[in-house]
Amino acid sequence: MLALQGDFKEHAAMLRQIGADPVEVRRAEQLDGLDGLIIPGGESTTIGKLMVSYELLEPLRKLIESGRPVWGTCAGMIVLAKDLGGLRQPLVGALDVRVRRNAFGRQLDSFETDIPMPEVGDEPVHAVFIRAPLVESVGEGVEVLGTLEDGTIVAVRQGNLLATSFHPELTGDSRFHLYFLQMVDAETETAAVSS
Ligand code: GLN
Repeated sequence: MLALQGDFKEHAAMLRQIGADPVEVRRAEQLDGLDGLIIPGGESTTIGKLMVSYELLEPLRKLIESGRPVWGTCAGMIVLAKDLGGLRQPLVGALDVRVRRNAFGRQLDSFETDIPMPEVGDEPVHAVFIRAPLVESVGEGVEVLGTLEDGTIVAVRQGNLLATSFHPELTGDSRFHLYFLQMVDAETETAAVSS
């Protein structure tokens, strides 16, 4: 987990529960040897600024180019995106989507709902939204994994990149983390075969 700011500890707890071995990453050298990376929810402007001051932006882009799975939740989704509809803040800028920050307005600052997500499991996923972003549009090659009832896109995958507007680490449901670990296992096997 990228441990600059936000709720990385909750992600770590969930990963431990399902048998993974999470490590907290703050420096570029620590990216070497990772099987995958989670960028947690928090405040995307803060996470972005810290990525700049810790000189992590380029190394993170390289990690993604190398094929390692990277998952951004909420603020993590924002910093992975290529386009914030004109907002300027430091971004990794790898995920071909346009994201709108704090998209649900004051009334709906935080809410919870169940979302069907067949890729992740038969039963709907319980999703917690906290001052969440939404995906306004996706580029070619971006798969939509989940939408709200009105069609709003809240979960996407583009190859080794996964992004969710909501916080699976805050529910007791580990299926999203298991889905990410499957991405990690698949990539680790491919890397072993080709080396
Ligand atoms: N509103 C936050 C942002 O724009 C994201 C909130 C979250 O990660 N829960 O960065």
